[in-house]
Amino acid sequence: MSPFSGNQELLARRRKVLGPAYSHFYRDPVQLVRGEGVWMWDAEGRRYLDCYNNVASVGHCHPEVVDALHRQAQRLNTHTRYLHDSIVEYAEMLAEVLPGDISVSNFVCTGSEANDYACQIARRVTGNKGFIVLRGTYHGATTLVRDLSPAIRPDPCPDYICEIDAPDTYRGVPSDDPDRFAAHHAAQIDSAIETLQQRGHGVAAVIVDSIYDGSGIFAPLPVYQQQIFSRVRAAGGLVIADEVQSGLCRLGDHYWGVMDSGVVPDIVTMGKPMGDGHPLAITATTPDIMQAYVDRGGEYFNTFAGNPVSAEVGKAVLRIVERDNLLGHVKDTSDDLFARLRALADKHPVIGDVRGKGLFIAAEFVADRATRAADAATCMSCVEWMKDHGVLVSRMGAHGNIMKIRPPLVFGKEETDLLLETLDAALARH
Ligand code: PMP
Repeated sequence: MSPFSGNQELLARRRKVLGPAYSHFYRDPVQLVRGEGVWMWDAEGRRYLDCYNNVASVGHCHPEVVDALHRQAQRLNTHTRYLHDSIVEYAEMLAEVLPGDISVSNFVCTGSEANDYACQIARRVTGNKGFIVLRGTYHGATTLVRDLSPAIRPDPCPDYICEIDAPDTYRGVPSDDPDRFAAHHAAQIDSAIETLQQRGHGVAAVIVDSIYDGSGIFAPLPVYQQQIFSRVRAAGGLVIADEVQSGLCRLGDHYWGVMDSGVVPDIVTMGKPMGDGHPLAITATTPDIMQAYVDRGGEYFNTFAGNPVSAEVGKAVLRIVERDNLLGHVKDTSDDLFARLRALADKHPVIGDVRGKGLFIAAEFVADRATRAADAATCMSCVEWMKDHGVLVSRMGAHGNIMKIRPPLVFGKEETDLLLETLDAALARH
């Protein structure tokens, strides 16, 4: 297949009117015009296998989701200050699948807002101001959660925030020495708590993303999560599970990644996959915590969030996930994909590590397996070459050497074949 060309003219117009704050994927970006299931098409009719988009959870433009949206948009779209059965039904469906006693949902439009609101709740309920976050993570784009996102914060860390190491089992302390691993991370969390207390902020909450996406993608590690949960709670703080990435069956064993560790958080935030592309996000907590928030003066309103159209979309997504057993499907696809990706890594030494969980996968590129020196150039050239040959993946990490594979939940066996054949061919060129 000959390399696909991008749309330089549209890119130039976009730069002029959207400005430089927006970035784009690929040196020669693709202009996508249509999607269906795990496929997307560009303006020239070329088809791409989507191995990257977790937002299109049940597949691009799922007909039942589109139909639910269309039907409700024709009837009524208004806000949460009037009664409507759709939002109540959706919240009831969420309560069925959320962990533990978490059964109260408040609706927002983005993952950023979900985390921002979770932080407001934590501050008001605990009376504390400080937060603990994991190095390298991203939690969103509002002023508060941008500060809580070491991955993109341009300025020095504010003094009400402490960062701790993510469980980087490739470049950090390995988990195959459990005592050393536990002691290292316990010391980190203890020191963060002490620092926030000494500075007079106390701990409002820790925010944990169970797949440690921004930190390099690592499978949930129960010991890590359990230590954080117990220590932060003992210090009077809450635990916020950021399930914007790891939620909705993505990791293959449970609906929410945090459940892999056998712990129940105080607040769960959800976004990306919940609306299959529609802007639908949620902050959910226990009845007691929500009551405490309101008793201490808290309230919430968000004009667009929780409208009946979004609620019908959310209901359709949950219905499809349940009916089509996407949890089991993710598990099956993932077992096969991991096994074959590891076999490919045996063949190509440039892949130094394959890790992650479910359909959230990292292939880390190294120049030398012994030193683990990052090889961003090969990773970048494979990502670009695969795009030119109809397979979309991406690149991430502090060194830019991690290939990120995170397809829609409906990705299956045939798609795995094509992904791995294309990756093999890309690697064979090096
Ligand atoms: N949390 C995590 C873990 C995310 O990955 C993101 C988005 N990449 C967000 C929060 C913010 O979500 P949104 O872009 O919908 O505001």
